[in-house]
Amino acid sequence: MEHPENSDEYKGLAVNSGVVSPGSINPYLKGRKKRPTLSVQDYVDGIVKGNVTVLSQAVTLVESLKPEHQAIAQEVIEKCLPYSGNSVRIGISGVPGAGKSTSIDAFGLHVLKEGGKLAVLAIDPSSERTKGSILGDKTRMERLAVHPKAFIRPSPAAGSLGGVARKTRETIVLCEAAGFDKIFVETVGVGQSETAVHSMVDFFLLIQLAGTGDELQGIKRGIMEMADGIIINKADGDNAPKAEMAANSFRNALHLFPPSESGWTPQVLTYSGFYEYRIKEVWDMIWAYMDFVKKNGYFQYRRNEQAKYWMYESINETLKNGFYNNPEIASRLAEAERLVLGGEQTSFSAAQKLIDFYYSNLK
Ligand code: GDP
Repeated sequence: MEHPENSDEYKGLAVNSGVVSPGSINPYLKGRKKRPTLSVQDYVDGIVKGNVTVLSQAVTLVESLKPEHQAIAQEVIEKCLPYSGNSVRIGISGVPGAGKSTSIDAFGLHVLKEGGKLAVLAIDPSSERTKGSILGDKTRMERLAVHPKAFIRPSPAAGSLGGVARKTRETIVLCEAAGFDKIFVETVGVGQSETAVHSMVDFFLLIQLAGTGDELQGIKRGIMEMADGIIINKADGDNAPKAEMAANSFRNALHLFPPSESGWTPQVLTYSGFYEYRIKEVWDMIWAYMDFVKKNGYFQYRRNEQAKYWMYESINETLKNGFYNNPEIASRLAEAERLVLGGEQTSFSAAQKLIDFYYSNLK
């Protein structure tokens, strides 16, 4: 019998014999032309020449989880490193609806008027869930998206926040090597992603809205302490006086914080991203900060600290992945969990045993 499922034993289930499927849906289609694979040097040459297509392809490699892509990506990054560093990196954070994309569009056009090239990158930890990023979406920044000197790249979609942030950090290197001298890194202001952005930018800009007078309550102290500038958006129409009031409460709150490491006093400004009011003031503040920290040495100090931070992050990530991705360890973890839950072993000794096993047998 062709299908055992059709025997009387399986009443109610009938399986028809299938038809042979054609080898190709369109037999005249000769297979898509494969993109020629580039060598590490091709990538580097293309990037250094400012070729945006090559840059995009290299960023795709950086974002890839495939080890063979990662190997090339790391080489490309390494070779691009001497050409990087020559930019101002600005982190832009705010809750959804604060006006990040509207503002970035306006800010972007403003800074591009002064010359140079702008890359807009993003860190969106939620993109792992949605399997597609909302941040950095080109449709959200209509004018920048068609600007010849702007490069917009959505958030890398896969992995932990640390992993996503690291890819954005690496993408900064490639963008700078490609001559982008202004880098915006956008993130949703909902928690840890600010810390990640803070660890890779020179200036951290927090976009806030005037609300019901309790705007300070919804914002975590740590995030406010990271901000080098707080800007209250939508200071237009009826909302303008409320925005001024909000700005005052932020200024008062900032007085209570200890002085920042940079010696810079964070400023609070109101503006309107939509109507483009006082965009210049916001940027004058950012350039004043840059002057200030370049003169007092903090600019380089912060970059050095960030470079160290990413080295340790990278070590941590590699060690962790090596351990957890090891099949021997994976199979022993379940047993260790059982022993811990059964009270037969403490959490610490179970952990120590696994780690000892890993280093003595598997490394
Ligand atoms: P995002 O989620 O932070 O990227 O916020 P969007 O830029 O998408 O803005 C959210 C909404 O606020 C949109 O409907 C914008 O048109 C509006 N919006 C943004 N900036 C302003 C502004 O300066 N004034 C006013 N009145 N509305 C704004």
